[in-house]
Amino acid sequence: MRYANGVTALDGIDLDFPRGKLTTLLGPSGCGKTTLLKIVAGLFRPTTGTVAVNGKVVTGPGPERALVFQDFALLPWATVLRNVAFGLELRGVAKSEREAIAARYIREVGLAGFENQYPNQLSGGMRQRAGLARALTVNADILMMDEPFSAVDEQMRRKLQEDLLSLLQVEKKTVIFVTHSIEEAVYLSDRIVLLSRRPSRVSAIRDPGIAHD
Ligand code: ADP
Ligand code: ADP
Repeated sequence: MRYANGVTALDGIDLDFPRGKLTTLLGPSGCGKTTLLKIVAGLFRPTTGTVAVNGKVVTGPGPERALVFQDFALLPWATVLRNVAFGLELRGVAKSEREAIAARYIREVGLAGFENQYPNQLSGGMRQRAGLARALTVNADILMMDEPFSAVDEQMRRKLQEDLLSLLQVEKKTVIFVTHSIEEAVYLSDRIVLLSRRPSRVSAIRDPGIAHD
């Protein structure tokens, strides 16, 4: 992937993300983790190379892939319920149906009772849960998470990590998780892909053998 300013962010990457597994992209800041995630999400078109989902080449975003943004990307003027239902609203799902679906995921991520609050009334960890609930509502098989827990304190981070793992036992998702924390990667992952800062290096692929079930 070459940016317009000539920076080559990724080169020679050849990766598979196994279905139903949590794969972590681990590496130092600037090594291209976010770029890789955005390419897989279809937000960036790679300069060369392709992305395939279930064997089919994709050239843009698709309903089978959902991105959980690092900065939560919640609409400040909308309630938790509306925010969580927003992906469905964009897809034209009727209000009563989308709110029923959103309410279910709000419960699942532990935000029951906060449906009518606004994002600025929530803690960082709760906003992150709302972002996760929104990604879950669109029922994508592939969830991509870019340092989703980086903005919360250590204790909340551990809680969110545990919640994510329990949630994944219920919702069988393929997850691509980005972090620069080795500890977080080891704790969460079925599989870790280590990216080096030098372009074109995937230094190691390691399977720590941690199962979710
Ligand atoms: P992070 O993923 O760490 O939150 P960003 O994705 O915003 O950060 O940026 C990652 C790196 O890419 C940073 O070093 C930033 O300076 C650089 N970067 C982001 N946008 C641009 C741009 N438009 N032009 C040049 N460099 C950029
Ligand atoms: P990471 O997520 O691992 O921190 P990024 O994918 O954000 O890394 O960045 C990889 C490289 O691409 C860095 O050298 C960064 O400066 C550069 N980069 C990121 N975004 C842009 C952009 N929009 N324009 C130019 N260069 C960018």
